[in-house]
Amino acid sequence: MNIPSKDSLYIGVDLGGTTLKVALVDIDGRILTQERVPTEVRDVRRLIDQLIGTIREVQRNEEGRGHIRGVGIGLPGLINIKTNRVEVMPNLPDVSSYDLYSEVTKATGLPVIFDNDANVAAYGEFVCGAARGRRDIFYVTIGTGVGAGIILGGKIWRGSNGFAGEFGHMTIDPEGLECACGNHGCLETKASAPSIVRRTRTRLFRDSTSSLSKLGLRQGVLTSEDIADAAAEGDELAQLILERTGMFLGIALAGVINLLNVEMVVLGGGVMAAGDLILKPTVEETRKRAFGPSFRNCQFAIAALGPNAGMIGAAMLARDSV
Ligand SMILES: [Zn+2]
Repeated sequence: MNIPSKDSLYIGVDLGGTTLKVALVDIDGRILTQERVPTEVRDVRRLIDQLIGTIREVQRNEEGRGHIRGVGIGLPGLINIKTNRVEVMPNLPDVSSYDLYSEVTKATGLPVIFDNDANVAAYGEFVCGAARGRRDIFYVTIGTGVGAGIILGGKIWRGSNGFAGEFGHMTIDPEGLECACGNHGCLETKASAPSIVRRTRTRLFRDSTSSLSKLGLRQGVLTSEDIADAAAEGDELAQLILERTGMFLGIALAGVINLLNVEMVVLGGGVMAAGDLILKPTVEETRKRAFGPSFRNCQFAIAALGPNAGMIGAAMLARDSV
């Protein structure tokens, strides 16, 4: 273990399904420089070369000064913490047969830590964001998928292999639609951005009075941001959809609060840009379903670091782990 000094720097990486983000971060979690590129999805070799190349680019500017102490990487999949292998990464080319960890370590010459993308974002919010100073938090990110990170006693709780926190794949509707994971009726099929769009479109075929009608009936045009905007402008259908989304989130969160007795739930990801329109029904549904004392001792907050949470969290995880 190397002893950090006040000029120690860390590289934080957030490999997303659409964007690869790499930042040079100082010891207090401030981003100094960053690179953002569209994620290479054509094949696995190009993806790995892009990941390493972008990290090296950020590293090169500081090379020779010896301030960079480690690299933290958040990956969108199941990361086996015992072997440092990526076991499943559903939305990107399959890296599971490659030893990505060894390749990054060799190319950078630095200590490297891998973790799940939601875990590193949770860690970012815990160290520098909405949950700063807390000990027991549950972080949820709602975007293309629904992910979560659990921090208990100030440490990421990963389970025995590193697979914990798959909140989006809790069954919320036994008769529900098939999920990408193979199960039916997962929370992700009810609360992710694509599911919000899908449920809105289904309703628009029956209800043509909504301001979204024109957009919604054309395939591939409507986004969850449009729905949030319409809800903010008073569109009743859009508000109803967000309320229902909050209800599903609240059902699942009540279970989490009863199970873990966390002191804070932090909600992040693109869908939370809808703010109170989704937060209020989420909190209300949780209140109805959770034990009173557990609910009253739990605060709800919208994530503070936005799209930087993953990079900052990955860098801080490298600071605290390598
Ligand atoms: Zn699922």
